[in-house]
Amino acid sequence: MTEKLFSDVEYNYKKINDRIAEAALKTGKSREDITFLAATKTVPAEVINYAVSLGLDHIGENRVQELLAKYNDYNLEDCSLQFIGHLQTNKVKQIVDKVDLIQSVDSVKLASEIARQSLKIGKTTDILIEVNIGKEENKSGVYPENLEELLCQISEIEGVKVKGLMTIPPICDNKHKILKYFNNMHNIFIDISQKKLDNIDMTILSMGMSADYFEAISEGANMVRIGSALFGARDYT
Ligand SMILES: *Cc1c(COP(=O)(O)O)cnc(C)c1O
Repeated sequence: MTEKLFSDVEYNYKKINDRIAEAALKTGKSREDITFLAATKTVPAEVINYAVSLGLDHIGENRVQELLAKYNDYNLEDCSLQFIGHLQTNKVKQIVDKVDLIQSVDSVKLASEIARQSLKIGKTTDILIEVNIGKEENKSGVYPENLEELLCQISEIEGVKVKGLMTIPPICDNKHKILKYFNNMHNIFIDISQKKLDNIDMTILSMGMSADYFEAISEGANMVRIGSALFGARDYT
């Protein structure tokens, strides 16, 4: 691992923190109100651990196999490990003992399996419900109009606890459109929060990635998931 890569990560880490603070301030919040989760796909554990040594305290993987391969090398003493990708039901048992939160739950079936595997090890797993805010076909996430019903069903399942919502909006060619998706998502989040559904905590709104985390925070996100802006362009080779 080159010194250059480490110094880039350090530079990027500071810059992102400053921009998060700036975006938070714009909405009357402070830096501490926003969780900076690093999306770590393709990034070696050594580089992730370097970022953790700088103060990074949330990381997210989006593939089960990659998480398992790196798991023993993460320094998780002061860092939360989350799952942020699409999760297949048959792989739940491989990660449920290893993660603090699963961000991408969009069905009763998946929630039930997470619950079942969690109870087996005496745990309740925190989850977010993924919303398909752009209603794109072939994309994960519950459609907004089906969210409340899904929440009601999941709220009755022992072994999982809903902590909020996450979304990946459609790829947009202009900032105006993306702001609208973020704004819609925030309205849904507020709306659901105000309904005070039993056994549902609406505390986390996870949206915004490298290209748009500033906009996401200004529209109400309190967790952003950032990969390439921190670690550089991903190398899939
Ligand atoms: C990769 C990934 C991100 C981060 O993407 P960048 O554009 O590199 O910041 C965020 N969320 C999820 C679910 C991801 O898979």
